[in-house]
Amino acid sequence: MDVGVRRFRCDDPGCGAATFAEQIPGLTAPFARRTAGLTDCLATIGLALAGRAGARLASKLGMPACRDTLIRLVRALPEPPAAVPTVIGIDDFALRKGAVYGTVIVDMETHRSIDIFPGRDADTLAAWLAERPGITVICRDRGGSYADGARRGAPDAIEVADRWHLWANLGAAVDKTVSAHAACLPEPPPADNLAADGRSEAGPPPQSDPPIEYPLARRHRERHAAIHELLAAGCSRAEAARELGISERTVYRFAGTPLEQHLGRANNRASRLDRFMDHLHQRFADGVHNARVLHREIELLGWRGSLRTVERYIAQLRERANPPPTAPTPPKPRKVAGWIMSDPDHLTAGAAMQLKAILARCPELEATRKHVGSFANMIQNLTGDRLPSWIDAVRADDLPALHSFATGLTRDQAAVTAGLTLPWSNGPTEGTVNRLKMIKRSMYGRANLDLLRRRLLIT
Ligand SMILES: [Zn+2]
Repeated sequence: MDVGVRRFRCDDPGCGAATFAEQIPGLTAPFARRTAGLTDCLATIGLALAGRAGARLASKLGMPACRDTLIRLVRALPEPPAAVPTVIGIDDFALRKGAVYGTVIVDMETHRSIDIFPGRDADTLAAWLAERPGITVICRDRGGSYADGARRGAPDAIEVADRWHLWANLGAAVDKTVSAHAACLPEPPPADNLAADGRSEAGPPPQSDPPIEYPLARRHRERHAAIHELLAAGCSRAEAARELGISERTVYRFAGTPLEQHLGRANNRASRLDRFMDHLHQRFADGVHNARVLHREIELLGWRGSLRTVERYIAQLRERANPPPTAPTPPKPRKVAGWIMSDPDHLTAGAAMQLKAILARCPELEATRKHVGSFANMIQNLTGDRLPSWIDAVRADDLPALHSFATGLTRDQAAVTAGLTLPWSNGPTEGTVNRLKMIKRSMYGRANLDLLRRRLLIT
């Protein structure tokens, strides 16, 4: 589209511009390479996707711009006016994992990020806080340099230990406790195996394996049973055929004749395997379990049947050699710790039953579950005044890992009590840290702090 504009000449001999072109408000600006609207669009794309991905999208949308241009536009965006927060959340994030860290500050009332700065040490935070005297509540993680910085930078502010971290630390202590009681997790062997009089241990149980069924006979038996079950349940023959994925003809054949007739036929056919059975058993006992190898071997001995038949037969031998374990495997400590940390109403019926059995045979784990329950209660109902009695109750039980957790709480008790009493929690800050991670990932090597900051604060 062409736009016609007028060019003006200046009469004032002292004017440096001499001529100037008419501008269309909102569309053009002197010396601009693109319209205001296009600049807006590109800056928005740059904010969302940063350089490389942004440039790719922009060119697809018919607004080609190189990635440096996009980043320059993002840098040129005005920062939002700095709000004066009263309740803030603080957390750290990795700029380069294990090497460079930064700190993010969130306004807990609006849930907006207000600042990020490099470093996560007490001095930096204290200096940041000293410049902003209006802050009255500081939500932070447990203890450490942020606690120190907050005390120095805003001595009058109430510190709130973040509930999310409290709960995570409690979870770690429960993990340790359950691991220490790993021996209590498996079900004890049934009483009659305990050999109270020493007699039941003597001698293996009498073993009389049923003869191995010929594969085809076995299949017939299963198919016959399945068909009759479906027909007895009221299915039509066509429905039964569809359900089992077999032809209707087969259903007719099995429905109309007794099982023995099919078995007889199958056994006749499969009994051709009889001649080779000794060989198969011998080789299986030697450790050769590969049906393909065994098939080739008996082919040399004269077998003319299919590989599939040999495979099915070997599968039965294998099943017999490794019967499925009778004792259920005990749940892993980590899993049990997860159950203990869960709301009992949210456990599946199976998990609840297993947990109940475990707690019934281990008084320490039972006590742990009670303490977890009352801690969860404090968090949910914000009854931090019960913290001292909770700590006393924990100390009365023989639970070393929970003892160190409780001792940690007493070191930061004012902030922990505030965390269990006041409505603020670092949840929004955690969300911001996750968003930071996402933005950082989309910037690849260009994770310069100023750019990261702009993208976080403006979007
Ligand atoms: Zn135990």
